[in-house]
Amino acid sequence: MSWKIPLADLDLGSEEEAAALAVLRRRWLTMGSETQAFEAEFAAFVGAKHALAVTNCTAALHLACIALGIGPGDEVIVPSLTFVATANAVRYVGATPVFADIVGETDFSLDPDDIVTKITPQTKAIIVVHYAGYACDMPAIIAIAERHGLQIIEDVAHAPGASLADRALGTWGAIGCFSFFSNKNMTTGEGGMLITEDDELAEKLRYLRSHGMTTLTWDRHQGHAFTYDVVDSGYNFRIDEIRAAIGRIQLRKLPANNARRAELNQRYVDGLTELVPQVTVPYKRCRGEAAYHIRPILLPPAVDRSRFMTALKTQGIQTSIHYPPIHQFWYYRQATAFKSPNLPMTDDIAAREVTLPLYPGLSFAQVDDIITAVHTALAA
Ligand SMILES: *Cc1c(COP(=O)(O)O)cnc(C)c1O
Repeated sequence: MSWKIPLADLDLGSEEEAAALAVLRRRWLTMGSETQAFEAEFAAFVGAKHALAVTNCTAALHLACIALGIGPGDEVIVPSLTFVATANAVRYVGATPVFADIVGETDFSLDPDDIVTKITPQTKAIIVVHYAGYACDMPAIIAIAERHGLQIIEDVAHAPGASLADRALGTWGAIGCFSFFSNKNMTTGEGGMLITEDDELAEKLRYLRSHGMTTLTWDRHQGHAFTYDVVDSGYNFRIDEIRAAIGRIQLRKLPANNARRAELNQRYVDGLTELVPQVTVPYKRCRGEAAYHIRPILLPPAVDRSRFMTALKTQGIQTSIHYPPIHQFWYYRQATAFKSPNLPMTDDIAAREVTLPLYPGLSFAQVDDIITAVHTALAA
């Protein structure tokens, strides 16, 4: 399908090409100087003490669960209105994801009040998702976590460069997990980053990322070590130098690209509010500085969503749904059948949500065309 306006598009150019080529010519392809520089630059960008590059955000979430000691018998509170990886990571360590509801029509992130009702003696942690790049109510969630002795993992896949009270998202919880998948605000194709302030957690994450080994091939190449010990049954979740080099360029472009997303988002908010008042526009205002990863809207309850999306498709405009809620998937209906999650807000919003195209290369004229197409589709 060749879309006139796709849902997302990349900002990739000659700088990324040159960076990848330079790595190939240097003939050191995994976890070397580019990875170290990428990690140092990412840590400085978000203001974190430690940053560790990994294969993807799913691996980051998995390692975060292990490093925090989450295991069989434990419960972890997660949203259902997120990508399935958020909950799958909890299953990897044998723990049970317990779904909490979201705030409402203007804020699709975890509702602090509903988190409280889902806490049991087995609850060990909360994984928050900064939906669409907008901060969750972190002060309220942290207060709950402290009161009940819970850890917080942040799924920051939507929100690189976003902040709350001038503090980067990802640095509020014990561990922050970023994604550099192809459709995210910055990309390396596949890739991810773990951040933490805690030296002990960082050390654990570091050896878990690479087979539980105490030294890397790179250390031995540098002449720093001849051998290694293995201190855990770790994984191979390493990133390679080509992706790290591309990531460094993408990170440099991120602030300007997020600023462009903000302008386009404002164009959507103003235009939709004026032309199609029957559509609900969430996140008209937000806490702190957002990353504007996607632009969600809510259709009026009576509108047939498939017909609406087909009408936009006919105009060459790609739309999507963020998300089919996790608790409705077959696997999770089996795994959490005994929990019978009561998530009225998630169910309502998941049935009416449509995501419109948003990426830095979009023009104001294209945003206006999309708003007109939304108006026409709803008038039909
Ligand atoms: C993309 C995404 C992930 C998974 O990231 P990968 O890097 O593809 O593993 C996890 N959580 C959320 C909210 C995402 O959007």
